[in-house]
Amino acid sequence: MPSFLRLAIAATIFAAALVSAVPVTSSSTSPFLQKRSGPAPVIYRCTVPGTIAITFDDGPFLYTNGLLDILKSRAVKATFFFNGNTYGRIEDFAASVKRAYQEGHQVASHTWDHKDLPSLSPSEALAEMTMLEDAFRKIIGVRPTYMRPPFGSVSAPVLEMLGQRNYTAVMWDMDTQDWAHPDDFNASYQLYEALFNKTEELGQPGHIVLQHEVNQVTALQVAPMAIDLALVSGYKVVTVGECLGDPKSNWYTV
Ligand SMILES: [Zn+2]
Repeated sequence: MPSFLRLAIAATIFAAALVSAVPVTSSSTSPFLQKRSGPAPVIYRCTVPGTIAITFDDGPFLYTNGLLDILKSRAVKATFFFNGNTYGRIEDFAASVKRAYQEGHQVASHTWDHKDLPSLSPSEALAEMTMLEDAFRKIIGVRPTYMRPPFGSVSAPVLEMLGQRNYTAVMWDMDTQDWAHPDDFNASYQLYEALFNKTEELGQPGHIVLQHEVNQVTALQVAPMAIDLALVSGYKVVTVGECLGDPKSNWYTV
């Protein structure tokens, strides 16, 4: 082989090595994200004592705006795990998504159409994330770094894929089970009452509560009562990011 050709091949291999050493994602602006590698962290509860992160899944839908009015009237922030196309199509509710983001709530991913990620092929699971990322970029200009796996279902390959995309997977430690009793206000509300009755809980790491904004009773009846009770009981009603002490600049990337 002529020496110039050997040199050219060597240079190409060197250049390829350089390229592969550069992080795949473009989210290197955040130090928190930069240090991430390996599978996505999985979070079950808050770390900041006295906080409660109320989370709403499966929207955007018919009640998102009403729920945002309720949150605004109480000056508290919540976390929305939005889908791209489950109950509603995200394009049809773009104004609600944008409003949630602009009003300081944490906007996060719940995948494109709520499939069980471990049951999908790697490319299908990836598409569940990237399709919604594209939709978020169109609506709010960024995409979230927090996500909730549908059904709380993950696998090692899914967490690896999520980690490569700088996601944190958010589970919960309190489940209102509102999907199982959609019209039963008391069944959901009693869970909050039981928590807030235990005053010693205030000094403990806070809680992440799972519920579904596509349920009208949850969004428009349970949410305001639960928030009022949380505030009276001395809790800080915050987003998941805040309840983990993670600065807002880490909640989104390009
Ligand atoms: Zn869901």
